[in-house]
Amino acid sequence: MSEQIYTFKTIVIGPAAVGKSSLIRRFVENMFSLHYKFTIGVDFMSKTVDYETGKSAKLTLWDIGGQERFKVLRRSFYEGTNGAIVVFDLSRAQTFTKMKEWLSDVRQAIEKDFPVVIIGNKSDLIPEIGVVIDRNEVQQYAEKEKTIYIETSAKTGDNVEKAFLELTQRMVQKCS
Ligand code: GDP
Ligand code: MG
Repeated sequence: MSEQIYTFKTIVIGPAAVGKSSLIRRFVENMFSLHYKFTIGVDFMSKTVDYETGKSAKLTLWDIGGQERFKVLRRSFYEGTNGAIVVFDLSRAQTFTKMKEWLSDVRQAIEKDFPVVIIGNKSDLIPEIGVVIDRNEVQQYAEKEKTIYIETSAKTGDNVEKAFLELTQRMVQKCS
């Protein structure tokens, strides 16, 4: 049994259909479905992460619907956030632009600085459709935001755990 010291509120944000719910599902239940079911309101899940030997943190994962009509919910949704996973879709370039708006929206709503990990999801589609996004631009943006960029696939599970672990370690660092 590892010692659990922290509970972190982790929000997963970004435009609709980029794979936010799928990433959470892959991370928490190690499952994936191609069947699209959009998130209504806010969904909760939690998972305990061993961020180093003998030490664990509980993440409460907040998944909000990307739809504009839920905008009124967002302020209460953001309250008490310890960290954010910010997601765009590697198969749709415009979701990167939209993702930046999401992040600046949260930065405005939350006064304190909080750790972020930027995810380009659906990396499994790249062999099929090619690269539709300027990775240098994403990298530069991540540096400007003092964070890192990770490409994941909720479908295959590639890098999903790594992304959440990376964020957890950053949240722990922030607290100690
Ligand atoms: P959300 O609106 O951001 O929560 O997006 P969802 O998790 O509901 O996913 C939207 C759609 O993209 C669904 O049909 C998923 O099956 C699909 N999807 C999500 N992640 C991936 C991925 O990594 N690869 C592929 N190929 N499809 C994905
Ligand atoms: Mg969803």
